[in-house]
Amino acid sequence: MTETDQSDTVSDRYLKREVLGEGTYGVVYKAIDTKTGQTVAIKKIRLGKQKEGVNFTALREIKLLKELKDPNIIELTDAFPHEGNLHLVFEFMETDLEAVIRDRNIFLSPADIKSYFQMTLKGLAFCHRKWVLHRDMKPNNLLIGPNGQLKLADFGLARLFGSPDRRFTHQVFARWYRAPELLFGAKQYASGVDVWAAACIFAELLLRRPFLPGTSDIDQLGKIFAAFGTPTPSQWPDMVYLPDYVEYQYVPAPPLRSLFPMASGDALDLLSKMFTYDPKARISVQRALEHWYFSSAPLPTDPVKLPRPAPKSRAPDFDPQDGPTVLSPTRKSRRIMAGPERFEGNSNQEEKIDEHAGEVRQAVGDIAGKNEQVPMSVDFSIFGTKPQSTPTINSADSCHLKRELDREFQHDE
Ligand code: ADP
Repeated sequence: MTETDQSDTVSDRYLKREVLGEGTYGVVYKAIDTKTGQTVAIKKIRLGKQKEGVNFTALREIKLLKELKDPNIIELTDAFPHEGNLHLVFEFMETDLEAVIRDRNIFLSPADIKSYFQMTLKGLAFCHRKWVLHRDMKPNNLLIGPNGQLKLADFGLARLFGSPDRRFTHQVFARWYRAPELLFGAKQYASGVDVWAAACIFAELLLRRPFLPGTSDIDQLGKIFAAFGTPTPSQWPDMVYLPDYVEYQYVPAPPLRSLFPMASGDALDLLSKMFTYDPKARISVQRALEHWYFSSAPLPTDPVKLPRPAPKSRAPDFDPQDGPTVLSPTRKSRRIMAGPERFEGNSNQEEKIDEHAGEVRQAVGDIAGKNEQVPMSVDFSIFGTKPQSTPTINSADSCHLKRELDREFQHDE
C-alpha cells in the first residue's frame, strides 16, 4: 500500500498521514495542512458518549491554550470537531526528550543536558506566568523540533479533558514524575507539582534512566523517601494533614552526590532545591532558571547543535499532486449533521473528567488570595467556572461549538 493510499482527509483541509502514536486522549496523526503545505500533528480527542461531549468551558479553555505562544511551548494552530471527535492541530515536531534520553547512540554532555533542561524550564516558566499548570510533565511531553528547540506539549489537556487515567499502561509512567503532595492526595496544589516533575526530568537527563520508577503510588513514595529520606513534620509541616497521608518508617537521606555521581555541584544544588518536600519551600521555576547552574560553565549548548535521534518518520511530506481527496462531507453539510450523535466516542471519558477540578480551583482560590506572588493554577486564575462533570451537547450546542471554533481559528466559510 502506498503512502497516498493510506491518506485520508480530516476536515477538508488536512491530509492525513501515518499514526504517530496513541496518547492519553486519543490517537495522534501526522498530517499535511493543504492550506499552508506545512506538516502538522493532529490530536484526535475522543469525546464523551451520548450526553457527554465538548462543553463551553472546554471551548473557552481551547481558546486560552491557543493564546499560549512561546518558543518553548507547542503551538495549537487549529481546532475543530469532526466525526464525533475533537481535533486539535499542533505544529509537527520530529522527536521528544524521551527518545533522546533512551537513545544509547547519543552522548549528552553536561552543556547539552543544561540546554535541554533550560528550555524545559523556560517553557514551564512562561506557562506559570500565565497561571497555567502543566500537571503532566514527563520526557515524552517535551517535543523537539528540527532546529533542536524543545517545546512543552499537552499543556492544559489534563485540566481540559480530565486527569490522565493511570489505568492505561502508557500513563503508568506519569506516576514517576508525581510530587509527594499529589501522592498523599493533596487537593490543593500549585506550580510546585510541575517543579517536582521537572526535577525528575533533570535527574533522568543526568542518569539516562528514570530516576524514581515506582510501581504503585505507595512504592513511588517509598522510592522518593529512599532517595531523600523520610520527610519529618519539621521539614514539611502540612504533610500530616494531607488526605492520604500514611506514616512511613523513617529512613535517613543518603548523600545526594551518591545518587548522581557524575553531576556537578551546581546541578546538585539546583536538584536539591527542586526536590524540596514542602511545596511552599520548593524553588519556583523562575528562580530555578536564575540559579547559577545555568550561568556557570559549561554554558548551555546552542539548540541547533544539540544531539538528537533521527526523525521518527521519513515519510515524504506535502506533494501538491497528492490531493487532498475530500472523503468527508463538505464543511457546510458537516455542520448541519453535527448533532449529539456526531460527538459520540469514548465511554471512558466520564471517568476521565477530573472530579477534583472544582475543589482544586476552590482551594487554590483561597490560597491565592493570601499569596498573590505564586501562580497557583490554571484552574483558579483563568478558568473561573466549574466544568460540568458530565458535559452535554445538543445539536444547537454543537453548531455553536463549530461556529465558535471556526471564528476562533478563522476557518474559511
Ligand atoms: P501522551 O498522552 O502519552 O503524552 P500524546 O498524545 O502527547 O501522548 O502523543 C502520542 C504520540 O504522538 C507520541 O508518540 C508523541 O511523540 C506524538 N506526538 C504528539 N504530539 C506531536 C507533535 N506535535 N508532533 C509530532 N509528534 C507528536
